[in-house]
Parts: sequence; structure tokens; C-alpha cells
Amino acid sequence: MQHFPVFLSVAGRRIVLSGGGEAALAKLRLLLKTEANITVFAADPHADLLELAAQKRLRLVQRHFDYGDAMCARLVYAANEDALEDARVIAIAHDEGALVNVVDDLHNSDFITPAIVDRDPVTVAIGTEGAAPVLARAIKADLEQRLPSNLGLLARMGKAFRAAADILPMGRKRREFWADYYFKSGPRAFETAGKQGVQNALETTLDRHLFTDGRKGHVDLVGAGPGDPELLTLKARKALDAADVVIYDRLVSPEILELARREAIMVNAGKEGFGKSMSQDRINDLIVQHAKDGHHVVRLKSGDPTVFGRLDEEIDAITAAGIEYRIVPGITAASAAVAQIGQSLTKRDRNSSVRLVTGHDMKGFADHDWRALAQTGEVAAIYMGKKAARFVQGRLLMHGADPLTAVTIIENASRADTRVIATTLQDLEPTMTDAGLNGPALTLYGLSPRDAVQAASTLPAKEAAQ
Ligand code: SAH
Repeated sequence: MQHFPVFLSVAGRRIVLSGGGEAALAKLRLLLKTEANITVFAADPHADLLELAAQKRLRLVQRHFDYGDAMCARLVYAANEDALEDARVIAIAHDEGALVNVVDDLHNSDFITPAIVDRDPVTVAIGTEGAAPVLARAIKADLEQRLPSNLGLLARMGKAFRAAADILPMGRKRREFWADYYFKSGPRAFETAGKQGVQNALETTLDRHLFTDGRKGHVDLVGAGPGDPELLTLKARKALDAADVVIYDRLVSPEILELARREAIMVNAGKEGFGKSMSQDRINDLIVQHAKDGHHVVRLKSGDPTVFGRLDEEIDAITAAGIEYRIVPGITAASAAVAQIGQSLTKRDRNSSVRLVTGHDMKGFADHDWRALAQTGEVAAIYMGKKAARFVQGRLLMHGADPLTAVTIIENASRADTRVIATTLQDLEPTMTDAGLNGPALTLYGLSPRDAVQAASTLPAKEAAQ
């Protein structure tokens, strides 16, 4: 991010603009929406500028911008449509400590003005760092359509009602009231009874929320999928939007954590202090404690929470404390990995069952398990199988598996840095060790990538595809 988006307080502050033509007028259309004191320097002003000055919407000084003019200015706009004159303005403004924007000149600007969707006091600013103005315009058009035109009014009236609503306890209770107002009772009242209707709705909605019992906290046990945020379910997305507390595992990708509500308390259950793993008991305690405090807790686990997620231990603790919970399934690593190599987990006349196993558990495999797996065509998705590769390889060969059985290792499935390594049972080790895997990896026993391109590589999939 080269440019950091902020909302600058400009009410009653000085904004200076140099230029008197079309470019200046275009900027002024935006600036005049603010409560700033605007001064325009133009030796030869457009008629519209004279008109705006006559209406006292801005102060017009009919000469070129010069030394002293940027004093105490929050912002200076150079809109002269003349590179030399703009350069002169930049030099003076910088001497006087002001931030300058040169119209249509990203390179020489200290700040840029975003595309704006205005539902004052709700303002959406869209920036592309100058990379794609077309994209910014498309997003703006989309939002203009989507955000109801009365949103500004609802927000202004809501703002005035904030103090009254503060009677509700902070956190979920208060949020539920506001969600009800903004998305249900407020818009409905506006449609039937206009502004007065909205005022009544604020009061009746508050009464309703005040006199219904405060709900207990609850826990959503949510699958975050394999890493790609687009592989989150809509339910998971909504749970993240609403969570007061998010307790997440080590493998949950940062892009997904970004989606949590900004006010949410984020707890990394993968690590405590410097690198030590949190014990399961401690995680259970945390979940229960936060829920008992009345919070909406999202327990976020990689992939699907029901697959090698120690879910049942958490459910036992939650139910023992009399707390409600629900499970939101996610896409497990095996599904993401197999999709990535263009295969199916099951296939008619090849394998009608698939095993999800962990490398650790395979050490306790019974003889008949190994025999079944060693039969041609069996497919297994081996989770946490990096360290167990040598052991698995030895046992399968011992039980008569074909040494040329396809094995594919998929590291960081669905993520940008993914790698696909196609090998065979006889080469599983040292291939696994030689690959030097850093990320989570899934071993698909009995499957090879469908395409030669995918099969080719120990390279990241992106590069291999080129
Ligand atoms: N609940 C998870 C599994 C947790 S066990 C799920 O359903 O996917 C952790 C193991 O999952 C890792 O050791 C690795 O084998 C596998 N895994 C998780 N995310 C992965 C990813 N993006 N790519 C490959 N394997 C992954």
C-alpha cells in the first residue's frame, strides 16, 4: 500500500486551489461538499467560479498563486493544466509545509483524491493508487446502485440517537439493535412514514431490544477452508462478520483473518508467547470463558472443522458449560488438493471409497488397513504426513503395494505459493524430504495429476503453468 487511506478533518480548515479552468471546477465539485474554507487563486477565472464566489461558497483571489498563499492550508490543489505553473505551486506549497495534489499527476502528488460514494455521513472512498481508474469508476457505479439513497439520512438520524442507544450494554446487544435499525426497521419505516417514521422506529426498536432478554453467548465452530478466502462458505463469512471473538488456528491464512470484524478480539490459538502451542485445555477454557461473557465466539479452524480438528473435545467443553454451538463446515484440504490436480476423490471403477488419514494415526494402523490400502486403486488423503512418509512408504511396500503407485504431494493447496509434486510410492522418500516443504502439505496416495503440466513440477503451480 503506497497510499494510506485516511479521512481528514477539514471542517473550518483552509483548502487552497490554484487554477481557474475546467480541471479546477471538476475538483471543486468534490471539495464543495466538504465544510472546508476554500480559497481559489485564478488570474483568469471561469464564469462558474465567479458565480460560486458571488454565492460565497468559496473565496476567489484573481491573481496567480504565490508565496504565503499556502500558509496554514490543510491541502493544496494544483489544477492549472500547465506543468510549469503546477511545478511552481508545488515548490511554494512545500516550502510552506502543505500537502499538494496535482490534478492527473500521481507522480508529483503527495496525496490523491479517491473516487467517492457519498451518503454523508457514510462515505466510501475507492483508490487504486492510480493503477486502474476504470476499475475505481466501475466499483463506484456498483456501490452507488447498491447503497440505498436514504442511507445518509438513516445514518444521520442514527447518529443523533447514539446516546439514547448507549443504554444497551456494549457488544452484541447494541450491535443487534443497530443492525435491526439499519437493515430492517429503519428502511421499512422510511418507506411508509418518511423521516418521522424513522424517528418512531428508533424508539420502538430500542424498546424492543431493551425489554427482551439478553441472549447468552454462543460458539460457531467454523471451517476456514484451505487458505484461499474465496473458498470460505458464505456462512463462515457471515460468522466472521458478526464475531466478537475469533479464536483461530495456526493454519488459517492471514487473508481470511482480515475478514473478521475490526473490533473483534483475535486470539491466536496456534501460538502462545513466542512459538509455544496452546494446550487443548487452555483453548477449551478460552472458548467457554468468552462465550460465558456473552460473546459470539467464532472458533476458526483450517479446512473443515470436523476433519482432524479435535472438534469433539471442544464441543464437550462447550456443552458441559451449557453453551449453544453450531458447526459451520468448510472445504477440507483433501478437496482443495484433489481439485488442484484435476482429479476426483472417488471414481467409478477405480475407487469407490477414499480414506482420510493422518500420518500420526497410521503408525497405529492394523494389518487389514494396510492391506486394503495396498490394493490397486485405493485412494488415501494423508494429512500431517510429512514426517510419516518413510514409515507409510515402507509399510505399503511391505504389504504388496505396487511401487509405481502414483503419489502426489500438494503443499499449500489453494494458496498463491502452492506446489504440486508428482511422484510414486517407491520415490515418496526421499522426494518428500528433498522438497523441503515449509507449508502444510497433503499426500494423495493413488492419484496423479491429470495434466502433464501439473505433473511436471516441483515448481510452484503458477510457474509450472507458464
Ligand atoms: N481440518 C483441516 C485439517 C487439519 S490437520 C482440514 O480439513 O483440512 C492439518 C493438516 O491438514 C496439515 O498438516 C496438512 O496435511 C493439511 N492441510 C491443511 N491445509 C492445507 C493446505 N492448504 N494444503 C495442503 N494441506 C493442508
